[in-house]
Parts: sequence; structure tokens; C-alpha cells
Amino acid sequence: MTDFTMKTDADGVATITWDTVGKSMNVMNQQGFYDLDALIDEALADDKIKGVILTSGKEGSFAGGMDLNIIAKMKESAGDNPAKGLMDGLMATHQMLRKIERGGMDDKNKGGKPIACAMQGTGLGIGFEIPLACHRIFVADNPKAKIGLPEIMVGIFPGMGGTTRLVRMMGAMAASPFLLEGKLSDPKKAKAAGLVDEVVPADELLAKAKEWVLSEPKIVKPWDEKGYKMPGGAPYHPAGFMTFVGASAMVHGKTQGVYPAAKALLSAVYEGAMVPFDTALKIEARWFTNVLMNPSSGAMIRSLFINKEALEKGAVRPEGVDDQSVKKVGIIGAGMMGAGIALVSALAGIEVVLIDSKQEAADKGKAYTTAYMDKGIARKKATEEKKEKVLGLINATTDYDALKGCDLIVEAVFEDVGVKAEVTKKVQAVVGEDCIFATNTSTLPITELAKASNNEEQFIGIHFFSPVDKMLLVEIIKGAKTGDRATAKALDFVRQIRKTPIVVNDARFFYANRCIIPYINEGIRMVTEGVEPALIENAAKLLGMPLGPLQLVDETSVDLGVKIAKATKAAMGDAYDDAVDEILFWMEAEGRLGRKANAGFYAYDEKGKRQLLWDGLEAKYPVSDDQPELSEVQNRLLFAQVLEAVRAIEEDVLMDIREGDVGAILGWGFAPWSGGPLSWLDMVGTPWAAETTNALAKKHGERFEAPDLLEAMAKEGESFYERFDPAKAA
Ligand code: NAD
Repeated sequence: MTDFTMKTDADGVATITWDTVGKSMNVMNQQGFYDLDALIDEALADDKIKGVILTSGKEGSFAGGMDLNIIAKMKESAGDNPAKGLMDGLMATHQMLRKIERGGMDDKNKGGKPIACAMQGTGLGIGFEIPLACHRIFVADNPKAKIGLPEIMVGIFPGMGGTTRLVRMMGAMAASPFLLEGKLSDPKKAKAAGLVDEVVPADELLAKAKEWVLSEPKIVKPWDEKGYKMPGGAPYHPAGFMTFVGASAMVHGKTQGVYPAAKALLSAVYEGAMVPFDTALKIEARWFTNVLMNPSSGAMIRSLFINKEALEKGAVRPEGVDDQSVKKVGIIGAGMMGAGIALVSALAGIEVVLIDSKQEAADKGKAYTTAYMDKGIARKKATEEKKEKVLGLINATTDYDALKGCDLIVEAVFEDVGVKAEVTKKVQAVVGEDCIFATNTSTLPITELAKASNNEEQFIGIHFFSPVDKMLLVEIIKGAKTGDRATAKALDFVRQIRKTPIVVNDARFFYANRCIIPYINEGIRMVTEGVEPALIENAAKLLGMPLGPLQLVDETSVDLGVKIAKATKAAMGDAYDDAVDEILFWMEAEGRLGRKANAGFYAYDEKGKRQLLWDGLEAKYPVSDDQPELSEVQNRLLFAQVLEAVRAIEEDVLMDIREGDVGAILGWGFAPWSGGPLSWLDMVGTPWAAETTNALAKKHGERFEAPDLLEAMAKEGESFYERFDPAKAA
């Protein structure tokens, strides 16, 4: 069986159809490249064939991308020289795509056969780089389709000619959102941007492509003609110069220089723009090889692509439990979280009952969806009909009887054991026996809360992050008695609302908050020690953390920090470390509650725009003359987080290391370039990690002592992805 087949019609038009066996969307694999290459050779050599249409056998899409095993195979293909294997493999791909692009023309651009690409819809990555090599791109008018080059999002860049071709087609400036941000477009927007040539009704797609193939079109690409000039100017052109200087600064500003792919992409564009096309492809291949050889890319691909998708597809779903898709969800508490959960549920087409103790509060919760949809309409992303449909799914009420028929409850009332227990009882008096009860608590132990329930097996934690509609992660927490059906229900619900789940066991702060709180505390603690606040914040930014610890406190609020500190102290007793209490309690007393008060660790202007760090801090916590090295500050901030991830494995809170990494990046933005805390430990090596953190412990306290697990692994030089290989665990 092969993924590509060719048929030639009576008019001499050959149609090459791509239909990956066993997949709902086409994916390029190694055999696919060989097959496509052979069919192109055949079509170009056959005198009866006048031109070619390349299309897909899948409804609604052209191709979703590349099977990343190709990269692994390329690396292995040159023995112990993986870089050579990659470079050779990439150049072979370039030759194949170049063959399509030249269509059999001679050196003088004479002869040759037109090759059109007819895309039924979505074309991503290599699924768009192949069309870019064809002579004309037709796309079916399918508004749901997504077209573009999202590689940068997973730590690589378009390295199968996409970078070089796009820059030569539209210029570096116009190409930059598509290359540097991985921007995707629907067919109409893709046409407006100049990414594709024609958008046609789906049922005319092949006919239009054929008409064009038979029209004896001109097929020479602009860059293969004499006198070609790059749109917007090459680097030494005055306009081009401005673009490249600006782009370098912008990329560095956005990435802090920690993402190898963004830098390499820019180098490939810059260097490629100064040489002929074929040399530019070679440069692109070199930089792509460089990126693929960087451990950061491998770790990002593993976490943000392979493992994220595996978790979304149910990698940790209990076996043997039938489909638990939610039909009617009851949400109790229409505050900030409840309103968001109602919105994402209704957007997924689930019927919602949104309850609060006062009708006014319930209505306010529903109004959040109204405002969201109105914004969507203003941005032309939603319609009035869609808004009516979504709002029609939400019943905002105070009447618990409306919960009848719900198969899932998500409780999001105040963070108070008593209030939650009362609500649990009230709900269970109304709903059916099968209904699963979930709590969205951020700090209270699930096993304790479950005690208020009449069925602890059906009680579970579903922890959303704020703002619910933006945050991609949902943390599912199993209490001591939570059963498989409850876990499956939570996972199926998360799939319906299109978020990424992780499933963890119950322990203080679960997983995400357990790691993020020590990060925040370490930052605050350094302020009290006299470390320059700007050094702390910049050290975090230079690690690729989206927010410095002090900014993060301001965003989540100082009073929340105080609440958590008090509750943790009450729960932990003597074991509690109160190093940050003084400063937090003082800030609260000063009314510097963070962004919401327009005053916190940072100063804010009247409009709420964040300014510099607050200069009043220094009066109470003077900056010491002796500042630590940047690397020491960074290590403190990193180890504060990663040691908790290790302890979460030790304590069986994390059951699958993939969840530890994916959860960290999606949940609190842990330096995405690293692939997550456990990938980071593997990258620096467990021996170095144990030695470094133990040195920190000597200087800063026992919280940095390497956990036993890390110590043991360091002795063996073992890595987390070896020891806890998810493939073996499965
Ligand atoms: P909130 O104060 O904005 O909303 C709570 C809502 O519950 C209010 O509208 C209140 O009127 C309602 N309520 C209180 N008692 C009720 C009762 N007996 N019956 C019906 N409704 C009642 O709080 P929030 O920020 O939305 O947090 C809700 C829950 O989610 C808490 O457990 C919190 O810890 C958790 N959580 C919050 C965040 C966050 O960032 N805010 C993140 C994750 C989880």
C-alpha cells in the first residue's frame, strides 16, 4: 500500500492523490517522500502527460504535517554523524520539491509541465511547504480550514523550503507573522495575504485546477528569472536593512534569546536573502540541522507536540470505561471561575445550568459569555446566531432543581470547606445517582472535600486556571477514593472543551500550584535578602519565564498570597517556612495588593499600565552592595520549581512524567524552550543538577537539598525520560 497514487485522464492531466493509509489527515512519512518523488519523475518523463494536479484523498484537508519520526530516521541514517544524516535528508527533500518547482524546465526556463496543488482545506507545515513548491495553489472555500507554517510553535522552523520560498514570495516583513509567529489563516485570509492563489467552491476544486493546467500557463517562479528582486528588499537594500535590523531586535525582545529556532530562522532568512535560491535552500537546511541538533528543539517537540497530543487523545484515560461525554453540566458558583467554565462548556455545545445564591450573581456570570460573544462578533469571529445559540445553552438560576438531568457538576463557590460541603449535599439531593461531582478548588484537599459527598468514588477535582477561556491546561485531581469513571468523565469533559488535561493524585497544592508557589516565594525571599528586584525579574525573563516572580504576585494579588500563607501555616504547623510572610503581610497592610489595586511590587499609572518596580520597597528592604551572579539567581528560581516536580514524582502525585512537563508549560509557562522541568533536568544532566542544587542548599537552606530520587539518578547518570519512559510505563 502506498500513500500516493497517480491517474491520468483522457486530456493528459495526471492527478496525484495523497491519501495516508490509516489516518484521517495526511501526514508525510519517509515512504511518502519516495513515492511522491517517483510519481513526479514518472509524470515529467511521460510524453502523454501535459500537467499534474497534486491533491488529497481526505475530505476537507490537504495535509496536517510531517511524521516527526522522519527526523529521527534522518539522524540515524549517517551512522554516528546525525548532523550529516539530517543535512543529507533535508537536501534530498529540497531536491524533490525543487523538481516539482522546476516542472522539468531546462536552464533557459523552456519546456516543463505545470503542476497545480488542489487543497481541499487544511495544509500545515510540510502540508503547505509542498503546495508552495507547486506552480499554482487552489484551495476549496472551507472557512474551517487552516493554512500555514506552525513549526515555530513547537521549537523548530519551516525547514522544507517554506522559509526560503515564503520570504522570496512576499518579502521578509510580510512573511514574518507566518514564519516567526506561526500564524495560520483560513483560505480567504490566506488568499488576501498572498499565501495561496485561488479560493474556489469545494466541488469545483479539481475542475478549476485542471482548467488552469491545460491553459498552458507560465510556470517559472519569479526567483528563477533573471533580475529577480526580493519584495521589500534584501538586507543591503535600504528598506530591507530596516526590516532586518528591526526583526532582530523584535525577535530578541520577544524570546530573550532562549529559543534557538527563532534565532536560526532569522539567520536563515537573512543569509538566504543574499544568495541565489538554491544556495538559500542549502543555508536553510544548515540552520534547520542546527536547530534539530539542539536538545531544546527535541524537548519542545516532545512536550508541546507529541506528548501534548497524546494527553489530549486520552493517553492517561482509564481503560475499559465507555464514553463519558458530558451532555448537561451544572456549575455552582457563578463568580470569576464559574462564569468562565460556563462559557467554555457552552462553546463546546454542552447544556449548562449556572447556579449562584443570588439571581443577580448568576446573571452576572452568564453576562460573561454575552460579553465574550460580543467581542467575537466585533472581531468578526462569531455571529449573532452563534451568540444566541451559545447563550441559549446557559440557564442562569438559583434553583437547584434545574440541576436534574446533569451528568457532571463543577463546583466553583468560595474556597471554604464548610460552604463547599453544604453545596455538595444540596446538589446531591437533586441530581441522579450517576452524576459525577467535581470541585474546582485550588488548595483544599480533594479527599477531605469528598467526605461531604454521598459517593466518594464519584467525587473528583477539576482544577481550571484563570482566565478559564485562555488557559490551555486543566488539572484533574484524584482523591483517595476517586474511581475510574469519575476520572474518565473529567477527561472526556476536558476533551470536549478542547483543553489539555493532566491527571494527578491528591496532595497539597496538587501539581501546578505546588511548583509555582515556591518560584514566587523564592523571588520574594530574595527581595528580603537585599537582592536587586530588577535582577530577580530579569533573571526570570532571561530564563524564558513569561513573568518574573514579583510580577506574578502582582497579577495573582498579594492578598491571595497572604491567604495561602495563612492557610498553609495552619495546615503545616512547625514545618512551615515563614520567610516571605513579613513582606507579604506588610504589602497587604500598605494596600499594595498588586495589579488590581494599581500598586504592588510594581508601580502602575492611573490607567493601570505597569511601570517600574516600586521604589518604596528599598526603604524597608535595602538593596545590598554585594549582588549575586545572574546564574545563581536563575538557579534559585529554576530549582525552586523543578525540585517540586521531582518531589511530585517521588510522592506519586505525578504518575506520568509527560504530564509533569506539559502541565508545567501550559499551566504556568515554565520556560517552554526547555520542554518542561523534567526535560530541563535531562538536558543539564541529573549529576550536574544534584551537585548544583546541593551547593545552593549549603548557601540558602535545606529546601534546595536534592530529593532522594534526584540524588539516586545523579549517581547513575540516569535521565528522567529513561527511567520513567512513558512508552514502557504504558
Ligand atoms: P468568586 O468569589 O469570584 O466566585 C465564587 C462565587 O460563588 C460567587 O459568585 C458566590 O456568590 C458564589 N457562591 C458562594 N457560596 C455559594 C453557595 N452556597 N451557593 C451558590 N453560590 C455560591 O471566586 P472564584 O475566583 O471564581 O473561585 C471559585 C473557586 O475556584 C474557589 O474554590 C477557588 O479557589 C477556585 N479557583 C480559583 C482560581 C482563581 O484564579 N480565582 C483558580 C482556580 C480555582
